[in-house]
Amino acid sequence: MYGRLKKPIKAICPMCNNEFMKVWSNQKYCGSKAKKIGCGYIAYRNKFKRFNEGKGNKYYSLLPRVKDQIRERYKYTCQICKMRNDLKGFMDIDHKDGDRNNDDVNNVWILCPNCHRIKTIRDRENKN
Ligand SMILES: [Zn+2]
Ligand SMILES: [Zn+2]
Repeated sequence: MYGRLKKPIKAICPMCNNEFMKVWSNQKYCGSKAKKIGCGYIAYRNKFKRFNEGKGNKYYSLLPRVKDQIRERYKYTCQICKMRNDLKGFMDIDHKDGDRNNDDVNNVWILCPNCHRIKTIRDRENKN
């Protein structure tokens, strides 16, 4: 799982083919997104660039900033009852298939708290 390695290990960065010391278990590229250096940072930046251009196919960890982008993309309008409310944080982010880990762009939309609750209850009923 994700975490800091006890001891950094040597790895080859697939972007620049240079050897680097891997510090995080899920680290793929050299450099660091936190320090804004190397391929790790470039890859991180590109993800968000693709997302902003509507080309990304994943929302990744649904950061608060990303959630706001999703609300904006759906014009703060509930995708079930079409009620609109652009009050900050009002609209809920919902995974259509009920799988919280499925952050695919086609699986994430926004719902008003009322529709979200109804959907959650129905999903639960369907499971039983
Ligand atoms: Zn690199
Ligand atoms: Zn609604």
